[in-house]
Amino acid sequence: RATLGVLGGGQLGRMFVHAAQRLGYFTAVLEPDVHSPAGQVSHHHIQTGYDDPAGLAQLAHLCQAITTEFENVPAQALQTLALTRPVAPSAAVVGIAQDRVAEKAHFAACADLSGVTCAPYAVIETLAQRQAVQAERAELLPGILKTARMGYDGKGQVRVKTAEELAAAWAELGGVACVLEKMLPLTAECSVLVARGWDGQVVSFAPQRNVHVEGILAVTHAYAGNMPPTLAERAQAAAVAIAQHLGYVGVLCVEFFVVDDGSTHGGLIVNEMAPRPHNSGHYTMDACDASQFDLQVHTMAGLPLPQPRQHSPAIMLNLLGDVWFDASGQLQEPDWRSVLSLPGTHLHLYGKLEARAGRKMGHLTITGPDVASVKTVARRAAGLLGLPGLDDI
Ligand code: ATP
Ligand code: MG
Ligand code: MG
Repeated sequence: RATLGVLGGGQLGRMFVHAAQRLGYFTAVLEPDVHSPAGQVSHHHIQTGYDDPAGLAQLAHLCQAITTEFENVPAQALQTLALTRPVAPSAAVVGIAQDRVAEKAHFAACADLSGVTCAPYAVIETLAQRQAVQAERAELLPGILKTARMGYDGKGQVRVKTAEELAAAWAELGGVACVLEKMLPLTAECSVLVARGWDGQVVSFAPQRNVHVEGILAVTHAYAGNMPPTLAERAQAAAVAIAQHLGYVGVLCVEFFVVDDGSTHGGLIVNEMAPRPHNSGHYTMDACDASQFDLQVHTMAGLPLPQPRQHSPAIMLNLLGDVWFDASGQLQEPDWRSVLSLPGTHLHLYGKLEARAGRKMGHLTITGPDVASVKTVARRAAGLLGLPGLDDI
């Protein structure tokens, strides 16, 4: 049997491993953390740093093809692996996705093809650039200062209203390379998953609508009518164009903002992309005939990519560590029995040993025969678990 490899041992790696094993593949995970979600379930767990040459050599030796489960692995590691094995996505595209400056430049370069642009922004890498932005780009305030690298779940971001706040925020972030993005009045957010094979075959899912709370994904709405159809079609086509322009291989997620531009459907702005399956696509495991992880396995193994079909409407609720603490701050296992007694609930727990506030511990997908019943159950489950983000249902 062939072995598929993954750099990184988080929950996305774990779900990749599950999907690979279902098709009969062995798996190898390279991850320093001994108790990692993916390492626990993989045939091979190479327990070492992402840039350890001996570990990378062992991974390459074991595997037929190798992917990554998070964008902040050193692009150099992917480059090294690619000397001897097929690696997807490539070091070059991961390098773009892990740097907001390069990422925005890519979005600009393919704007004619994709039909979307990103929010107005400025690059701040030097004191002179920061001062120039303060003097000449007042229209970017209020804005969000984001570190160019290593940010996720809203980390490495500071909201700034004035030039003084911008100066303080840049200092707070350590004076590292940043982008200052204009704060847009969002009416909604959505994301699109695309899978593209070595041969250029491409399939995609319809956009899911996402609700974030404090910069972290809280709820994903995945059903027909979750957003205006015109907008949904544009987002799906834009994501495919972005993947094609990159020559992308693997699963890519593109995040979009929806803003009120005076048109009936609203305007679409591209936010960022993730060179891997995405939290907002977890519903595909329970609501579609092929999940984002199945497609990731197919791309890695060079298998045909079936056009996925969603068979049930779905809502996904993220389970952050906060759910594990009761009102008095005591650690307590949530009441899964009550949640699982509700129809159409699919509980996924990632096997993380320690619950911490804001830490992604699992998710709950609700499927059902129609949107109304899915919403009813989602509201009940969210109520039982004390989850936020369902006000707009
Ligand atoms: P992820 O975990 O998705 O990688 P991230 O840390 O890279 O998140 P972003 O996607 O840039 O962060 O921003 C997180 C959230 O903050 C967005 O989904 C959106 O809700 C809000 N946000 C970010 N940029 C803007 C903006 N320019 N205007 C308004 N809201 C924004
Ligand atoms: Mg991000
Ligand atoms: Mg994001």
